[in-house]
Amino acid sequence: MSKTITITGGGLTGLSLAIALRKNGVAVALHEAGNYPRHRVCGEFISGVSRETLEILGIADSLADAQLHRSVTWFSGNNHLRDNLLPEPALAISRLLLDDRLQKTATAIGVDLHTGSRRKINPHAPGEIWTAGRKPAKGGWIGLKAHIRGISPKAQLEMHSGPRGYLGVTPVEDGWHNVCGLFRIDKSIDARHEDLLPAYLTENGNTELAHRIAAAEWREGSFTAVAGFALGLQSPTPGVLSLGDSHAIIPPFTGNGMTMAFQSTETAFPHLIAYANGTLTWPAACAAIQHQLAKRFAKRLTSAKLLHPLLFHTAAKPLLKHAPLRPILSLIR
Ligand SMILES: Cc1cc2nc3c(=O)[nH]c(=O)nc-3n(C[C@H](O)[C@H](O)[C@H](O)COP(=O)(O)OP(=O)(O)OC[C@H]3O[C@@H](n4cnc5c(N)ncnc54)[C@H](O)[C@@H]3O)c2cc1C
Repeated sequence: MSKTITITGGGLTGLSLAIALRKNGVAVALHEAGNYPRHRVCGEFISGVSRETLEILGIADSLADAQLHRSVTWFSGNNHLRDNLLPEPALAISRLLLDDRLQKTATAIGVDLHTGSRRKINPHAPGEIWTAGRKPAKGGWIGLKAHIRGISPKAQLEMHSGPRGYLGVTPVEDGWHNVCGLFRIDKSIDARHEDLLPAYLTENGNTELAHRIAAAEWREGSFTAVAGFALGLQSPTPGVLSLGDSHAIIPPFTGNGMTMAFQSTETAFPHLIAYANGTLTWPAACAAIQHQLAKRFAKRLTSAKLLHPLLFHTAAKPLLKHAPLRPILSLIR
């Protein structure tokens, strides 16, 4: 009989890991603090994931009808900067839909899913995996997201930048556009809840977009916000195997965070199967996974960290306007 794997955190990393393990005969318990379906702060634009990865994990069906976006248009303030074809189409689907589909798949194949179950970190416990997302930290960032309809799009995908941050506009399903941005926290902004989005855009010089958003239809319950996190490698807890955002957060402009969630699972699950079947000890499985994660993600985390500040600098605008997109994208995948 195989050993049980216990996963804490039912976002994309936890759900995809639970499904991949269960499809390979491993007993899995998954604890999620919240419930499904729910909106999450995310640009809902998936860049750089291969079909092969999704198929290996057994989750390709859940993304089969995701929208495919082939081009992106950049704006700085209210000014058009450039149009680019993406090297390969990016997938777009709301987390409301995707996480819910994955939790239904997980339940249907026998994952022991506990929603409304907030667990404590349990160091050195064999078979326990931490996929609970961003670790609380002083990062100075705020992430804001909503679904909006009737926004009069200017392009297939829009990226708007300014000195305080950036925001993407991405069509998802049913005529809704995801608007999601990352901004440096500005305590002087006197706005609350949904009003934060147009307020941050205005402060960032994206006034034309702020007006479009304020005039559009907002999807009920879709506004979400998150603060109190840091980008990059998260501070590790000794004796804990952390995957996905709880291991490392790539800056959101890359559209690669969800890809990293899936690729973390792809890297980890063969070792976890070996542990569950008794052919690998827990410390050996953890060491192999941590080594491979570091190798797989080092280049893109470093490149994204170096590129990220350029998005905010007016002096770097010519670079944003003229730099070749393909080689840059290859650095952050
Ligand atoms: C502003 C912003 C925009 C982004 N845009 C994009 C984008 O366009 N494309 C992209 O690919 N990525 C984007 N990302 C990143 C992407 O959302 C994450 O990389 C991805 O969600 C990571 O998945 P995860 O499962 O590791 O973490 P999460 O999705 O955060 O899931 C963690 C889960 O753990 C649960 N949890 C937390 N604590 C506990 C506990 N103690 N017990 C039980 N459960 C717990 C939470 O409720 C949550 O469901 C963006 C991020 C931000 C901040």
